[in-house]
Amino acid sequence: MQAITISKFGGAEVLVASDFPKPEPKPGEVRVRLACAGVNYIDVYMRNGSYARSDTYQTPLPMVPGMEGAGTVDALGEGVTGLTIGERVAYCISRGSYAEYAAVPAWRLVRVPEAMPLPIACALMLQGSTAHYLTHSAYPLAAGNVCLIHAGAGGVGQLMIQLAKSRGAVVIATVGSPAKAAIARERGADHVVLYRDVDFRDEVLRLTGGRGVDVAYDSVGRDTVHRSIRSLRRRGLCVMFGASSGQVDAIAPLELAEAGSVFFTRPHLADYLRDAEEIQGRAADLFAAWQGNRLEVAIDRTLPLREAALAHSLIEDRATRGKLLLAIE
Ligand code: NDP
Repeated sequence: MQAITISKFGGAEVLVASDFPKPEPKPGEVRVRLACAGVNYIDVYMRNGSYARSDTYQTPLPMVPGMEGAGTVDALGEGVTGLTIGERVAYCISRGSYAEYAAVPAWRLVRVPEAMPLPIACALMLQGSTAHYLTHSAYPLAAGNVCLIHAGAGGVGQLMIQLAKSRGAVVIATVGSPAKAAIARERGADHVVLYRDVDFRDEVLRLTGGRGVDVAYDSVGRDTVHRSIRSLRRRGLCVMFGASSGQVDAIAPLELAEAGSVFFTRPHLADYLRDAEEIQGRAADLFAAWQGNRLEVAIDRTLPLREAALAHSLIEDRATRGKLLLAIE
């Protein structure tokens, strides 16, 4: 089959189109014939070696990257019941979607409703589930909470703004450009801060009358995390869930005390999609919101599979505004 492979960690150029053996589903797995693969920032970390020592997201070389896909059931491994060949399915957090076929644990698959195009389902799996667990579980937002969301015009950011608003929160979003500010506003952000031009902490304190936010969702990492911590209210929570600007090596305990006895967590999506029930529950909420016109899924662009390296360059260059997909012929 055609696939994108990586045989050494590095820049986008290590993504190479190759012939790769079609996977055979092991017991409990399903072979999915992919229609599209989602490109996510986690693919960048897996490609550049940031996760070389991760147990949760293993990166043995050579490997086919891609943690999100949608397509149809092509073959069932031993012991798999309840799914039929040809059914439309989507999934995330199983590596190997930059390919024509992927073998995926059956418990990770969700059925795609008839009225939902596969690219929309694909876009909702990884970024949607992330936005969902952040706003519903890591810090379950309630009416009147004030939250800070960085990169508000990004794939996760746009979904998170909408979910935070649906829970009644006040959203302060940061973005890298005026064009992105318009997108974050369109998604419902109450306040938008151009964090490359102004100090977002000053803005947060001004907008909250000096109190600070209840929760800061920080996916940018190195460039923002210390100021995110200092933007919290007393005993608030900083959820640092990504590192688009670079990995953060350490947070000093005293830094948390000095910021107002605040809390800090660095979650992995895999821990918030721990079993079939949790996966199905989050997907059901997201699919229902999309079907009820309560959740807009912005697809930035769709590139052919062979353009995976370009896709990585775009996301790393801050050039995407929403979901980036690879179409698989
Ligand atoms: P995005 O669409 O949000 O793209 C990344 C954005 O980050 C850019 O568009 C840019 O927005 C911002 N950014 C700020 N500084 C930089 C920089 N130096 N280089 C590149 N980008 C920068 O990507 P995703 O929606 O796919 O992912 C968002 C984040 O969420 C990632 O950090 C990802 O790792 C994380 N994530 C974490 C998960 C978890 O469970 N822990 C699961 C899924 C995603 P701007 O121009 O506005 O600054």
